[in-house]
Amino acid sequence: MKLSDIGEFGFIDRIKKDTIVNPASVVVGIGDDGAVYKTTEGKEQVAVIDTMIEGRHFIIGKTATWYEAGYKAVASNLSDIAAMGAEPTHLVLSVALTPQMDAAQTDELYRGMKDICRHYGVNILGGDTVVSSEGAVLTVAAFGEIEAGKAVLRSGAVPGDIVAVSNTLGNSGAGLDVLLAGDAGYAAMKKAHAMPVPQVELGRLAVKYGCHSLNDISDGLASESNEIAAASHVDLILDKLQIPLSDELRRWCEVSGKDPYAYALAGGEDYELVLTMAPDDFYLLKEEFSSLTVIGKVQAGSGNVYLKDGHHTQVLAPSGWNHFSGGE
Ligand code: ADP
Ligand code: MG
Repeated sequence: MKLSDIGEFGFIDRIKKDTIVNPASVVVGIGDDGAVYKTTEGKEQVAVIDTMIEGRHFIIGKTATWYEAGYKAVASNLSDIAAMGAEPTHLVLSVALTPQMDAAQTDELYRGMKDICRHYGVNILGGDTVVSSEGAVLTVAAFGEIEAGKAVLRSGAVPGDIVAVSNTLGNSGAGLDVLLAGDAGYAAMKKAHAMPVPQVELGRLAVKYGCHSLNDISDGLASESNEIAAASHVDLILDKLQIPLSDELRRWCEVSGKDPYAYALAGGEDYELVLTMAPDDFYLLKEEFSSLTVIGKVQAGSGNVYLKDGHHTQVLAPSGWNHFSGGE
């Protein structure tokens, strides 16, 4: 059955089931002109928004299924909420869909969104549905809560901080290249690209342990670390060889002749977190969240990032890693 057969209201009827997973804070969900929700006293609200365009951010049948597209459209927003240190609570969304799209496909799109929302206790409060003439456009706006005054900004890094990142970097960008090449195997990298994990738990722990600055890695470590350096008016000195890479990424780069650090520094869409904090606080945090690696330190300076590679140090520009832009 095509969307053109069931119409806008038929579509909304189909998707409105299981949108509220945490009813305590919802007064009105889907079905009126606006949603109504309660906020928690003493907390501040965080709002983020992100758009994914079919053909540009995902290619159905090649880099994503409809389920994965829905999942990722929510994940990228929850990653921004996590990067403020907040707990995600609600979302609203706008979908532009082609009339030729099958209702079974939109069911899959919403199954992906609902699965990740259920996992993180996020309510889908409402949205908007419009017709697109060419490909789907998915815009998700998410909301979260944080203890008043505790949001972890990009601007808080101070000299003496360590710089650390979560898990391993570069998997999503490499996973995308593997998917585009149609290569078999490399399941973890493909998954890192199609269904990234927002680091919500770590974001909350960053608040608990007094993290000074925090950013999610959506455009590559080079770009995100420069954002922290610029906003905090400090220099970041990163050690290339400390950047954590997965075995799968190393293996694929050996086979393909690619530079794994190009993916880590400029691959994008990893949705890991980069943070700076006092070393003593960091070691307490690491006891509770072990998958963190120190990759550098913060120094007094004027907003630059330097990348050390053995005895050689170079400026790391926000646009990334010269091997990446120059060598491709
Ligand atoms: P209005 O015309 O008042 O803007 P709509 O007819 O667009 O309302 O939407 C009716 C209800 O369905 C609203 O509660 C809206 O939030 C919800 N809704 C519409 N489109 C979507 C969607 N794509 N996903 C989730 N909820 C939606
Ligand atoms: Mg509307």
